[in-house]
Amino acid sequence: MNVTACKVCGNEYDKPITVKVDGESNVYDCFECAIHDLAPTCTHCRVKIVGHGVEADGEMFCGAHCAGQSGIETLRDRA
Ligand SMILES: [Zn+2]
Ligand SMILES: [Zn+2]
Repeated sequence: MNVTACKVCGNEYDKPITVKVDGESNVYDCFECAIHDLAPTCTHCRVKIVGHGVEADGEMFCGAHCAGQSGIETLRDRA
């Protein structure tokens, strides 16, 4: 059996989650580890963005509020 260690915590699990990013396979034992590694971080409040989030000037924010706090005022949350 091909057991692969989680990229984040090193746990070995026989049913890993594989996520391809830019053609490169990343292996995780659980979604929590995948989110930890792959989810972008809000530039303002450092929270992990697991929903839509907003992008402005190449920066990721968890919402328009944080973008506004960072001086970007043209964004609105998608209703
Ligand atoms: Zn893990
Ligand atoms: Zn934020």
